[in-house]
Amino acid sequence: MRILLAEDDRGSRSRLREVLEEWGYSVIVAATGEDALKELEREGGPRLAVLDWLMPGLEGIEVCKRVRKAKLRPYVYLMLLTQKGGQDDVIAGLNAGADDYLVKPINPAELYGRLKAGRRIIEVQAELLRMREELKRQALFDPVTRTLNRRGGFVALRREVQRSSRHKTSIAVVLADLDEFKAINDEYGHLAGDEVLREAAGRMGQVIRPYDVISRYGGEEFLIVLPGCNEDFAVKIIERCRERLAAEPVKFEDYKIPLTASFGVCSSPPRDGLLPEDLVAAADAALYRAKRSGRNRVEVAAPPAPQADTTI
Ligand code: GH3
Ligand code: MG
Ligand code: MG
Ligand code: MG
Repeated sequence: MRILLAEDDRGSRSRLREVLEEWGYSVIVAATGEDALKELEREGGPRLAVLDWLMPGLEGIEVCKRVRKAKLRPYVYLMLLTQKGGQDDVIAGLNAGADDYLVKPINPAELYGRLKAGRRIIEVQAELLRMREELKRQALFDPVTRTLNRRGGFVALRREVQRSSRHKTSIAVVLADLDEFKAINDEYGHLAGDEVLREAAGRMGQVIRPYDVISRYGGEEFLIVLPGCNEDFAVKIIERCRERLAAEPVKFEDYKIPLTASFGVCSSPPRDGLLPEDLVAAADAALYRAKRSGRNRVEVAAPPAPQADTTI
């Protein structure tokens, strides 16, 4: 583990560095509080720091205050070293944001044990951060197809609708629904159905552009966001999706499962106040028409009309 050692006294600095390295720490040294702060605020900087209180310029206690004010994440565990031992100083140090406090001359065994306690806290915090990231990922992704889920799709859709209005570019929204999917489940089983879902998402992912966003909207429905696409361009991309899905059956165990899907497309020119929900509703209406008129086809909806201005 990396550790920052901030100590202005050259002798103490090299003695401390030596023991820390002996204990397996990779030591980053700073001779001033300013340098210490720079190291800690650096992206990916050390998360464990031993700070001398008395240093010319920025003192250790001030470094503590600034680190806490900056709310650095992951958490930085701060240990202050000082000659001072009065109770008021201990209180001041802890109030400034130090996690622990050692009085010089330092007993190496005590330093060793206290640093170990600090490491435990850092490790627990790192684990929590990892878990939070994992939960965030799980909240936005669909485990079956590994595309974004409905929530993740809507996050992307809202972002792209805003971008469309800001950059004055069109945006297209597509709902895709696999045809007769219930029959696939009934005939080949649910595991085969899952494989078809994965394969469908994968095939569509191959033919859209890298900045298009595909998400699993519901059971066998996908929401696709095509930034910068007018109607013609959107239809071209989606025709490609349709053809790619139908091009060959999905292989699962010994089965070859034919696959098609129907699509509803709605593209809107850039517009302030355009609602993502209105785009989806229009695409859904077009999808419904695609189903009604025989499936395995792409239907287009007119862009949602702007709300009439009722203000006077
Ligand atoms: P249509 O062409 O009109 O869309 O017919 P359909 O059979 O595709 O539509 P329907 O809505 O009748 O059936 C959708 C089926 O999708 C029913 C449901 O059991 C199945 N389904 C939903 N989620 C999953 C899933 O995660 N895995 C599997 N295997 N099936 C799913
Ligand atoms: Mg000093
Ligand atoms: Mg459906
Ligand atoms: Mg369906």
